[in-house]
Order: sequence, then C-alpha cells, then structure tokens
Amino acid sequence: MNNFSYHNPTRILFGDGQIAAIAAEIPELARIMLVYGGGSIKRNHVYEQIQETLGERIVSEFSGIEANPEYSTLCKAVTQVKADKIDFLLAAGGGSVIDGTKFIAAAAQFNGEPWDILLQGGRNVTSALPFGCILTLPATGSEMNAGSVVNRSEMKAKMSFGSEHCFPQFSVLDPTTTLTLPERQLTNGIVDPFVHVIEQYLTYPVGADLQDRLAEAVLQSIVETGPKALADPQNYELRANLMWCATMALNGLLRNGVPQDWSTHMIGHELTALYGLDHAQTLAVVLPANLRVRKDAKREKLLQFGERLWGVTETSHPGSADERIEAIIVKTEEFFIAMGAPTRLADYGLDESAVDAVIKQLEQHNMVALGEKKDVTLDVSRQILMAAL
Ligand code: NAP
Ligand code: FE
Repeated sequence: MNNFSYHNPTRILFGDGQIAAIAAEIPELARIMLVYGGGSIKRNHVYEQIQETLGERIVSEFSGIEANPEYSTLCKAVTQVKADKIDFLLAAGGGSVIDGTKFIAAAAQFNGEPWDILLQGGRNVTSALPFGCILTLPATGSEMNAGSVVNRSEMKAKMSFGSEHCFPQFSVLDPTTTLTLPERQLTNGIVDPFVHVIEQYLTYPVGADLQDRLAEAVLQSIVETGPKALADPQNYELRANLMWCATMALNGLLRNGVPQDWSTHMIGHELTALYGLDHAQTLAVVLPANLRVRKDAKREKLLQFGERLWGVTETSHPGSADERIEAIIVKTEEFFIAMGAPTRLADYGLDESAVDAVIKQLEQHNMVALGEKKDVTLDVSRQILMAAL
C-alpha cells in the first residue's frame, strides 16, 4: 500500500428532514449568501425549507449557476459576495452548484485574476470563504471533497481545481430532495459515481486489500441499487443508498494508499467542453474504450474486478484471459446502456472529426501524460477515442 495522509472535515447530515439542522451549523452572525442553479430547488421545496430554517439570516441570493458552471457567471457571484460583504455561502443543488460555490469561495479571497486558480489547479489558493451544501443530485461527490470543475465556454475549456480550503463545512444529504430528478439525471447519478470508483480502483495493484474491498462494495451497491431505483423512482430507501454511494465514491476514502487514474474524466471533460454532453454521458463513452486500449497495463485488476463484480471466472468463461477481459468490458458497457447511458461517440452523432478536436484540446490543456503511470499520451488518448467511435 502507498503512503497517505487523510483528513476530511466535512460534516454529513444525512436523511429526511435534515435541512432543518443547518441553522445550528452556520455561525449565528454570518452574512449568508444562498447559491443555486436554474430553479429546481424552488420546484422541490428545498428553497422553502431553507427559508423556513434560516429566514432573514440569508442576506443575499445568487441563482442561475448553469450545469457545467460558467466562469463568467461565477465571477458575477464573486462581485456580489464582495458588495454584500458575505462571509458564508450556502450551496443548494447538484455538483455544478457546489463546484461553482467552491470557486466563488476561493475567488472571493484570491488576489489576482481568478482564472489563475484553474490554471494552477488550485495550488495558489491560500484561503476560501466557509460554505455548506444541500445536495439535491447525488453524483459527483463534490459535497464531501475539495475539488471543483469550472467551464469557460468562450475558450472551450473545462478545468478543475482542488484545495484543502474548499471542503464544505457541512453537507445535507436528504434523499427526498432527489425524488424530483428526471431520469437522465438519475442515470448520471449512477454512472458518475461508478466511474469515480473505477478510476481509483482499476489501477495497478499495490496490495491495498481493504481499499479494493471498499471500492468493490461501493461498485456492488451501485450495480444492485441503480436498476431498482430506475424502476422504482419514488423509493426512499433506494435513493438513500444511491446517495450515500455517490458520496463514498469520491470523498477521499477510496483513494488512500492506491494509484489513481482519472484519464477517463480528463478526456470526458473535453467532450463536454466541445459538444455539451453531460459529464456522466462522456464517462460511459470513454471508460470502456479506455479499458480496451489499456487492458495489458490493467490486466490483473481487470480480472479481479470482473470476477468480483460481474462473476466472470475461468469456469464461467473458459478461454483466454484476453477473452475474459473482453467479456468484463462488455458487461460494464451493458450496465451503462441498461442505466440509460450509451457507450459510443456515434450515439451522440460524433465521428472521427471529434477525435481530432478532442486531441487538440487535450494538447492545449497540457493533458499529455494522463493515467496512473502518466503513460496516456496524446497518442494513447487518440486510440481510446478511436475505440469509442
Ligand atoms: P448538475 O450539473 O449539478 O445538475 C444537472 C441538472 O439537474 C441541473 O439542470 C439541475 O437544475 C438539475 N437538478 C439538480 N437537482 C435536481 C433535483 N433534485 N430535481 C430536479 N432537477 C435537479 O449535475 P451533476 O451531475 O451533479 O454535476 C455535474 C458537474 O459536476 C460537472 O460540471 C462535472 O464536471 C462536475 N464534477 C465534479 C466533481 C467533483 O469532485 N467536484 C466530480 C465529478 C464531476 P437546477 O440548475 O435548476 O438546480
Ligand atoms: Fe465525475
């Protein structure tokens, strides 16, 4: 197992009715700004519950954070934070609102051009406003991690940053808030956490047995619960399990002591920046192709993953290890498709010209040595995208 340092300061308030508990979590004299997106929180009574709980303690509101939060919108929020002398942010929404809030929190205390935060991946962030979250779309894990992804459409750039100053102080995970999600977002909330686990698990083995078993437990729960939640969309227990899976998938626990890949995410970000695919849609397209192209480097873990998650063994699939690996990747694809996420670029009307465009973007963003061994060069990324056509 590799060395690691692990600290996660985010308090989780889990369950029905927990929005009421935030009043005690925010300093009494804080000047609070409520940050949200396009209005889903007004349709599912989250806004109402926040008002009931905090009332006049909210001095300012900023709405209109887009899916794939826009840099220019976030900069406007920073201006409002300064004008209203805000010292606590409350994010209510999905990953985009929470990621956007992290950026606002860091940019509000940053000297210089905020874009530099993204260019430096957050290494230059030395402080941030405190903030809490009310999560309404379990998918990204942003509610319990210190990462954020920001989109700047005029530059066709989707960039991420992370900073220890950007952990939420608390996050409310009330599964009832997710009952209004459209099926497409439920699909995204199954695929994104699945791939988060994979990018921390399907790497070369380092003898981290507990980490493997934890990762497999989250994958297993997603695979068991996802189809049931799609078939029974108003079931609280199923939503509760999916919600906790999504948080556990990316709250730092699974990455301790193991190599991490993230190449699927990085290639996927370019597809969102160029063609507007949902984040999780890009992952379902890139991951199977990535595994096919890099199956030799990932052989041992792929076979372990296939046996433990999909039951693909020498007995069930006699033949060569290569044949078993292909069966494992096909099962993964079948799972994404059954969850409503297509696995080919062609499913989104994209052809070889998209491959060239994505490679150009990766080069521009210096994404030229991805993966756990930094061996996913532009050439390998091209092979992955070609395999995804
Ligand atoms: P999202 O972009 O936050 O939300 C997608 C849509 O779902 C929005 O239109 C939103 O509407 C709606 N929505 C949210 N909650 C709803 C509810 N309860 N009922 C009905 N509609 C609801 O989706 P996301 O998948 O959570 O976030 C994706 C972003 O996170 C991407 O930019 C991705 O790159 C990033 N990401 C971050 C991390 C990380 O660790 N920080 C990890 C992976 C991905 P409203 O706007 O009206 O609320
Ligand atoms: Fe993700």
